[in-house]
Parts: sequence; structure tokens; C-alpha cells
Amino acid sequence: MAELLKKDQMKPGAIVEGGTMAKLNTGVWRTYVPMTDLEKCTNCLMCWIFCPDSAIKVSGGERHETDLQYCKGCGICAAECPVDAIEMKLESDVPPDDKKG
Ligand code: SF4
Ligand code: SF4
Repeated sequence: MAELLKKDQMKPGAIVEGGTMAKLNTGVWRTYVPMTDLEKCTNCLMCWIFCPDSAIKVSGGERHETDLQYCKGCGICAAECPVDAIEMKLESDVPPDDKKG
């Protein structure tokens, strides 16, 4: 059985300062892309509240397109949308010009 380390025997872990991902194109990690039908959208902003990457843009109380540079395709927004305005599609099935978040 492994011997447990005491607190002063442990090495410090790596800590990264907050906000560093803003400098990276984390959207390239995505497998699925959220396709939003803004005609169906009721501006409830549930997707904005739940998006873990702050990728959904809102201004003046209105939901706008998703910033695909940061969206990692987790699908939480689609799961939370009460009117099914967001559909997750395989990235490879959507032509680049049709990706609108
Ligand atoms: S899939 Fe939706 S919830 Fe997930 S990162 Fe992209 S915009 Fe945000
Ligand atoms: S959760 Fe759906 S209805 Fe609500 S703002 Fe987002 S896309 Fe629009």
C-alpha cells in the first residue's frame, strides 16, 4: 500500500491564471457544432446562462450568433433551449459557410 504524503511533502500543482483561453482558438476542439435557428429563438437566454465557454453573444438583451472561435461543441445550449432552436450537427456534415452557431 502506498504511503500517504504529508502536506509539507507534496509538490505544488500547476495553476493557470484565469482568462488565458481567450487568447486561443478553442473552437478547433469541436466535433459537433450548434446550429441555431434565430427565427425560433425567444430570447430566453438560457443558452447564454449555461454555456460554459461564454460563446453565445448577447447584446441589448438579445441573443446573437454563437462565437464559434470559442464554442467547444458540448451541446449544453441545445439541451437547455426550451424551444429546440439549437441543433447539434456533426462538424464534418456542415459546410464552412453554413456554420452560423
Ligand atoms: S455547444 Fe453551446 S453550450 Fe457548448 S460551448 Fe458551444 S455554444 Fe456553448
Ligand atoms: S435557449 Fe433557445 S430560445 Fe433561449 S435564447 Fe437560447 S436559442 Fe434562444
